[in-house]
Amino acid sequence: MVRVTERPALWELSPTQWEAWLKAQGQPPYRARQIESWLWGRALSDPRQMSNLPASLRSLLEENFRTQGLKLLHRHTSRDGTQKFLWQMPEGGTTETVWIPHRGRHTVCVSSQVGCSLNCRFCATGQLGLERQLKGYEIALQVATLKGAYPLPVSHVVFMGMGEPLLNYSALIEAIELLTTRIGLSARRLTVSTVGVPKAIRRLAELPQRIELAFSLHSALSEKRRELIPLAAHIPLDDIREALIYFCQQRREWVTLEYVLLDGINDSPEDAEALRDFVAPPLLAKVNLIVYNPVPGLPFRPSQRIEAFQQQLLRRGLLATVRQSRGADIAAGCGQLARQKP
Ligand code: SAH
Repeated sequence: MVRVTERPALWELSPTQWEAWLKAQGQPPYRARQIESWLWGRALSDPRQMSNLPASLRSLLEENFRTQGLKLLHRHTSRDGTQKFLWQMPEGGTTETVWIPHRGRHTVCVSSQVGCSLNCRFCATGQLGLERQLKGYEIALQVATLKGAYPLPVSHVVFMGMGEPLLNYSALIEAIELLTTRIGLSARRLTVSTVGVPKAIRRLAELPQRIELAFSLHSALSEKRRELIPLAAHIPLDDIREALIYFCQQRREWVTLEYVLLDGINDSPEDAEALRDFVAPPLLAKVNLIVYNPVPGLPFRPSQRIEAFQQQLLRRGLLATVRQSRGADIAAGCGQLARQKP
């Protein structure tokens, strides 16, 4: 099949590209700011509604660009105020975004892929397989849409939805660029969560935008981690640790280690000891113990030993907090995103 050269999506043009395109159409450069403000400020995708543009320009936009934004398929609200959005994505497939109001923060949890290739044994998304990569603008648009179209306040963004952001690296970088320049979020309020891709972690360390990094460890014992996260079989834990140390040193920053506590699997005193060894200097890391959200059909249960496990780490002088993820009643919690209705 011959592939027709596609029109770009409205969201794909940079400010300078807009100016160049407008110039070619005989339009003044200030129209670029007006268009950008509709697109990124209001997440409005229909040129016909861009009321401060002349009709001729609105038709040109319609003719020359793809104009689809995110199409809402379902919106659920949890008892705790968390909201989950299921979207039809502009470039195909469906994915979810979660909005979490908590202690004065308003965090958006974005998806970076449609599905996920990692197959983490305990995760609902992991059971789906990877359908496709999201583009950078499709990631940033999840935030712009909640902020501009619904409109919900947004103070922080975490890349902890569906997918592995470091296996969609160029789109991640694009999304970070869009979130910081077009949506106006500080890089320090963006957290990228990863299963651990050493090369990409090193590149993140050198990024001009100083984003926060979280690493999903789940077991500091290589064999056990490999069983929980099949992808980890190809990536030695030591290599990931070296990359995290590099990140800490480049940034003079701490990283977060995420550790989902699974009953009888990774919650023994020996597991805590191994974790303590992993966190030893020069790695600068705080530990975030995550309460497991059960996934229908999977054999894992939340640990009964959360407090004892935490105490063991605290006694050793580690920083360890417990996170009960929010929105679990509407399957919006960590690892529950599977595009199903609750
Ligand atoms: N792929 C990235 C980001 C997505 S998941 C990563 O692995 O970090 C965000 C976090 O939720 C990860 O730490 C993931 O392991 C965790 N998680 C997955 N399933 C979970 C579940 N059922 N309950 C609690 N946390 C889960």
